[in-house]
Amino acid sequence: MNINFQALGCRLNEAELEGWASQFMKLGHSVTSDSADADIVVFNSCAVTSEADRKSRQQINRLHRNNPKAKMVVTGCHASLNPQVVQDYLGVDLVVGNDEKEVLVDRLLENFDIPVEENKVVENSLFLRGRHRAFIKIQDGCRYRCTYCIVTIARGEERSRSVDEIISEISFLHQSGIQEIVITGVHVGGYGSDTGSNLYILLSEILARTDIPRIRLASVEPWDLPDNFFELFQDDRLMPHMHLPIQSGSDSVLRRMSRRCKTAEFTRIVEKARSAIPLFNITTDLIAGFPGESEQEWQQTMKYIESVGFGHMHIFTFSPREGTKAATLSGQVDKATKKARSREMHELAATLKRKELERHIGSTASVLWEQELNTGQWLGYTEHYHRITSDNGDICGASTISSVGIDQVDTSRLMLRIFNRKSGVMVDFPD
Ligand code: SF4
Repeated sequence: MNINFQALGCRLNEAELEGWASQFMKLGHSVTSDSADADIVVFNSCAVTSEADRKSRQQINRLHRNNPKAKMVVTGCHASLNPQVVQDYLGVDLVVGNDEKEVLVDRLLENFDIPVEENKVVENSLFLRGRHRAFIKIQDGCRYRCTYCIVTIARGEERSRSVDEIISEISFLHQSGIQEIVITGVHVGGYGSDTGSNLYILLSEILARTDIPRIRLASVEPWDLPDNFFELFQDDRLMPHMHLPIQSGSDSVLRRMSRRCKTAEFTRIVEKARSAIPLFNITTDLIAGFPGESEQEWQQTMKYIESVGFGHMHIFTFSPREGTKAATLSGQVDKATKKARSREMHELAATLKRKELERHIGSTASVLWEQELNTGQWLGYTEHYHRITSDNGDICGASTISSVGIDQVDTSRLMLRIFNRKSGVMVDFPD
């Protein structure tokens, strides 16, 4: 059978697709990147905002219109929060809740007439889906209750995968050509809270028991990190970049968000990272216009963000999410103010990013090359997770790693560049 996997939302949704794809390939089935070509379509939906809900509904309609004959399976947060509603959508044959994701393949085998061919040798489906780094799910769920967050409600309590299971998945992916893995979860810092382990132990085991050249961390809430955590980064296989969501630079707003980390603690974490690795790249998420956010609190946020200096920022304007406490808080900020604050923060973020990139000029970077562009240039990511292009023509192909000297910052595209040593000419970057 031909199975198509689709996801909206977070990297965890993407990591789960990879797990299911490998399982089905082991059972003798094929993965297709074209839903029109599939016998079964599995859609991993998202509900992080009302907009994500809308997009999930839209995607389900589109997939059904695109291939009405295919069996459609919907899982993920949108389906978990509204199982009956989704079950009644046109074209949906099966809904699998987040709490059943570990057994999704069994659910399909129980509900559909799927032939099984045991112990089939499989290649990894990432390349089939045009990807060069693998997201590895290490845990699910979260014990915290940030007031704006629906994920903690949709994904339930924390549950960690075993170290051995994670190690064997990473080794399988490395053997099949993957050079970089990205550690992901709902509350990555909570890894092992249910098994007596922790993130430090897991990363130490991955460094000791696998040969994967590059290990990257996806988004990590800035708390529950063991004290000696940043010592791990002395091993240059652990990429010196972390995405630490701060969400606001005002402690009074952070209190209304029920965030565990206030600005002073966040600063301490950033200082630890930068003293471990001077060019350590810290990126973040920020919500503009949280209920009750006064002009004074906003100015505190602007000042704090500038004082930290981030390599990249994801900036969201607050949108009330039904089912969360924040949606019922008084002092909802008007649209125009939210928009103006978001614009102001985007401008600051661009300035901070350019400053961050300029710190790398003249330094050497290790780049994972991913894509050859139609101009003959190559596009890749440095260990600090900065996008980089090379006109140098000596890149050996996708999923290869090479060490390069950083020449310049492309200020219009906010990325790094290496230009052609032979010709000394810079080729324009396609849109
Ligand atoms: S820690 Fe993250 S996942 Fe957990 S409730 Fe807060 S925002 Fe949601």
